[in-house]
Amino acid sequence: MTSLDDMARRKLEALQSGALLRTLPGPNRTALNFCSNDYLGLAQDQRLKAAAAAALEHGAGAGASRLVTGNHALYAELEAKIAALKGEQAALVFGSGYLANLGTIPALVGPGDLILADELSHACMISGAKLSGAVVHTYRHNDVEHLRSLLEAHRPAAANCLVLTEGVFSMDGDLSPLPDIIAAARDHDAWVMTDDAHGLGVVGNGRGSAAHWNARPDVQMGTFSKAVGSYGGYVAASRPVIDLLVNRARSVIYATGLPPAVVAASIAGVDIIASDPALCARPLALARTFTAHANLPAAQSAIVPVVLGTPEAALKASTTLERQGFLVTAIRPPTVPANTARLRVTFSAAHREEDVLRLADAVRPFVR
Ligand SMILES: *Cc1c(COP(=O)(O)O)cnc(C)c1O
Repeated sequence: MTSLDDMARRKLEALQSGALLRTLPGPNRTALNFCSNDYLGLAQDQRLKAAAAAALEHGAGAGASRLVTGNHALYAELEAKIAALKGEQAALVFGSGYLANLGTIPALVGPGDLILADELSHACMISGAKLSGAVVHTYRHNDVEHLRSLLEAHRPAAANCLVLTEGVFSMDGDLSPLPDIIAAARDHDAWVMTDDAHGLGVVGNGRGSAAHWNARPDVQMGTFSKAVGSYGGYVAASRPVIDLLVNRARSVIYATGLPPAVVAASIAGVDIIASDPALCARPLALARTFTAHANLPAAQSAIVPVVLGTPEAALKASTTLERQGFLVTAIRPPTVPANTARLRVTFSAAHREEDVLRLADAVRPFVR
C-alpha cells in the first residue's frame, strides 16, 4: 500500500529539486512591499475599515447562501455601484473572483459549445472553462490573427462560442487589444468575457480596461480583492445575463454569501474609485517612473514583469532585493510558462516616488 504521506513527500521532493517548492511566508516581514495587488492602498484605508466595523452590527457571517437568507441589502447597493462603474446594466457579487469565473463560465457555455481563451488567461478562467464541458482552445497571447484562425476552424461546429481574455494580464501587466478581439468575435457570432481583476482602479480612469478602450465586452468579471482593497468577486453584464447567473452559477447558488462587513468595505472602496481619478492614476504613473529608470519597456498598468528565466535566477534576485529592503516575490512555473520565471513588481498609490527610484536602481543590474 502506498502511504499518503509518502506520496506527498515524493511530490514535494520533486518540486524542491526544481526550485519550485512554495511555502507560506512568515507574517513579520518589514521590507517595502512591491508585490501586493492593493494598488490604491485601500486595504488599510480608514474609510473601508470604518464601513466594515459599522456593518459588523449586522452579524459576523451571512448565515446562508444569498438565495436562502444570506442576501443582505448591502449586496444590492454594491451591485448597483459596480455595475454603474463598469458601464453595465447589472452585476452579481460572488464570494471571490475565483468563484466568479468558476461559476459564470459554465453558466454561459457547455457541451456542444466552444471556448477560445488567451493562453495566459488566469488559472480560474481555465478551471471554469474545463468545468463547463465546452471544447476549449487557447490562442497565442494577444494574437488576434490566431484567434481569428481558430474561430474560422472551430466556430462552425459549435452552438455558441465564448472568447476569454484578461483586461490587464496579471503576470505580464500588458493590456489585451479589446476592440480587435471584440471585432473578431462579432465577425464570428461569438461573445467576449474579460477578467479585469487588475484593470479596475488602475486603467480607464479607474473604471477598468473596457473604459480604457471605450469597448463593450459582453461580460466583465472582476474582484474586490485587488484595487478595491476588500474581498469578493463580481460579474457585470446585461440584466438577462445576470438573471441567468442567479439561476445557473453554482458558486453563487450553493455557497454562503459574503459577510456583510466585507460587502460594506467593498462599497466604500468602489465609492473611492468612482470619485477619485487622481488616486487611480497614481499606480500607473509610479510604474512608468520605475520602468523609465530601470531601463524597461514603458509600463501599461500597475504590474511590471522582469523576466529572468530560471526559477533559481528569480529566487536569487528576489532574495537580493529583500536584503536591500524590497519585497518582490519570485513568480515561477506553473503560474508563468516554463523559462519565464520572473520578478513581478507591482505599484501602489501608497508608494513614495523616492522608494520607487531606489527600487529601480536595485533592479537595473538584473535587467537584460
Ligand atoms: C486574483 C485574480 C483572480 C481571483 O480573484 P480573487 O478575488 O482573489 O479570488 C481572478 N483573475 C485574475 C486575473 C486574478 O489576478
